[in-house]
Amino acid sequence: TNSKPLDFIRQIIANDLATGKHKTVVTRFPPEPNGFLHIGHAKSICLNFGIAAENNATCHLRFDDTNPDKESTEYVESIKQDVRWLGFDWGPHLYYASDYFDQLHDFAVRLITMGKAYVCHLSGDEIREYRGTLTEPGKESPYRDRSVEENLDLFARMRAGEFDEGACVLRARIDMASPNIVLRDPVLYRILKSTHHRTGDRWCIYPMYDFTHCLSDMLENITHSLCTLEFENNRALYDWVLDTLKTPNHPRQIEFARLNINYTVTSKRKLLQLVSEGHVAGWNDPRMLTISGLRRRGYTPASIRNFCATVGIGRRESWIDMGVLENAVRDDLNSHAQRVLGVLDPLKIVLTNYPGNQTEELIAQNHPQNPDMGTRILPFSRELYIERTDFMQDAPKKFFRLSVGREVRLRYAYLITCQEAVKDDQGRIVELRCTYDPATKGGNAPDGRKVKGTIHWVSAPHALEAEIRLYDRLFTAEYPDADKEKDFKDFLNPDSLTILTSCMLEPGLGQATIDDRFQFERQGYFCLDSESRSSSGKPVFNRIVTLRDSWAK
Ligand code: ATP
Ligand code: MG
Ligand code: MG
Repeated sequence: TNSKPLDFIRQIIANDLATGKHKTVVTRFPPEPNGFLHIGHAKSICLNFGIAAENNATCHLRFDDTNPDKESTEYVESIKQDVRWLGFDWGPHLYYASDYFDQLHDFAVRLITMGKAYVCHLSGDEIREYRGTLTEPGKESPYRDRSVEENLDLFARMRAGEFDEGACVLRARIDMASPNIVLRDPVLYRILKSTHHRTGDRWCIYPMYDFTHCLSDMLENITHSLCTLEFENNRALYDWVLDTLKTPNHPRQIEFARLNINYTVTSKRKLLQLVSEGHVAGWNDPRMLTISGLRRRGYTPASIRNFCATVGIGRRESWIDMGVLENAVRDDLNSHAQRVLGVLDPLKIVLTNYPGNQTEELIAQNHPQNPDMGTRILPFSRELYIERTDFMQDAPKKFFRLSVGREVRLRYAYLITCQEAVKDDQGRIVELRCTYDPATKGGNAPDGRKVKGTIHWVSAPHALEAEIRLYDRLFTAEYPDADKEKDFKDFLNPDSLTILTSCMLEPGLGQATIDDRFQFERQGYFCLDSESRSSSGKPVFNRIVTLRDSWAK
C-alpha cells in the first residue's frame, strides 16, 4: 500500500535513523486547549502519530496550556476524544506544558543570571514600536542594561504578584538589530492574574509560546518537532533558547505547509466566533470542519486519515479543494456502507391492481458489488412512496422515470405503469394511480421488453418516518477569509442546512445505530444524527455526502 515516495520529513527521519543520529524517534502533537480540533489539526495528528507508528516509536500528546484566559478542561477532553477517535493512542505519554511551569521558571531565572533576559516596563504598544520593521532595525529598551541582581529581584516580584497585568514583562536579551524580528528581544513571560484550569491561582506569570515550546520538547526528549510554516522565523528563537541554556538535548524543529481547504475556515479563533455568535449549532455542528463536526456528520476516521495521506506533506502553501475531502468519505463508504431505500420527498402511489390486504417480502441486496454483505427483506404492498422528483407531467422523451402512460422499474420489485396523476384543488399532485405487472417480480419482463428507468420506493404502511438534514458548504466564497476588507462571516451560505421533516425510509432503518453508515440508493450516504431526535420523536439522519452521480438520472 505504501508505494508513494517518502515526504521530506519522513526522509529526514529515515536518514537520522540510518546515520545513527537518533536511535528512535519521538514526536508530539501539541494542541492548545482553546477550542475544538479541526481538519487542519488532523493533518498534524496523522503526521506526528503516523511517523511514530511507522517507526514503532512514540508520539506524545501535549497540551500547550500557557494561556489561562482562553483554555479550559472541556477543550482538553474534547481534544483527547478526537485524537482517540481518529485512531491514535498516546499511551502513557500525556503531558501538559503547565506541568513544566516550575522548570520553565527556573530556566528563566538561569537566563537572567546569564545576562540573557531582563525585566522590561515598556507597554505592549511601545514594545511593538521599538521592535522596528523588516527594513528598519529596532530600538533598545531603556531597561535592557539592568543588572542581573535587579532583574532577579524584579522577576521574583513579578512572580509574587506585586505588579499589575501589563506593568512589565520578562524579555530575552538577544539582538534588537537582528534581521529576524522574532529575535529582537522577544517576550518570555507576561503577568496574567487569571485562574488556570490546572494550576489554579498558583501562578500569576505565564511563559510565552516560544519559550515554552522548545523547552517542553527538550524536557520530553522529542527528536523532531514538527510544526506549520508560520513558525519558520520562530525556529531561530527555538534554537537560541536551547543553545543559550546548553540543554542536554536539542530537538529539531521542521516546518511543513498547513492544510488549507476552500469554502471553509480552519482557524480555531474563527470557528469559535461561528459557535459563540450562533451561526452554527455548536462546535460539532455537522457543517463545521471540526473533528467533532465531521464525526457527527458521519465521516469515518479512516476517511479522514486517507484524506490526510492524499494531501501529503510539503513545504509549499496550497489550497485543497473541498471535493477532495468529500471524495475521501465517498470512497471509504462506497466500499462498506449498506445500501438501503429511503424517500426524501415522498409522493404516494397506489397500485390499483394489487390486492389491498396483501404484503409481500422482497429480497434486496445489501451491497450489489459485495454479495458477502448479504440480503435483507423489503415489505411491499399496494401503497408505496416514491420520490416526488421521479414523476413528471408532460415529460420529455429522455425522462426515463415516471409519467402518465410510462413504465418504470421499482428497485428489487416490479415494473409499474402510471395510469393517472391525482391532483388536489390547487392542482398539486397528491397521488399517482399505477398498475403493476405481476410477471415482472425482481424487475425483469418475461417478454423481454426494455424498461430503462429504475427508481427507489418504500411501502407506505411499513415506512419509517424520519427527519433528514441535508448540508451544503458553510461558505459561498471559495476563500472566505481572503478579503481583508470584509468579515469572513459575510460569506456564510444561508442555504447550508436544509431540513426535510417527513421522509419515508425502509423499516429496517429503525434499528440503525450511531455507528452505522448507509447509502440511500440514488441519494447519497447517511447516518443517524448523534445529538437529536426531531421534536415529534422521529429519528434524524444526516446526509454525509451526495453520490458522485446518481445511477438513474
Ligand atoms: P488555529 O490557528 O486554528 O488556532 P493553532 O495552530 O493555533 O490553530 P494549536 O492547537 O496550537 O492550534 O495547533 C496544534 C498543532 O496543530 C500545531 O502543531 C499546529 O501547527 C497544527 N496545526 C494547526 N492548524 C493546522 C493546519 N491547518 N494544518 C496543519 N497543521 C495544523
Ligand atoms: Mg497555536
Ligand atoms: Mg492559532
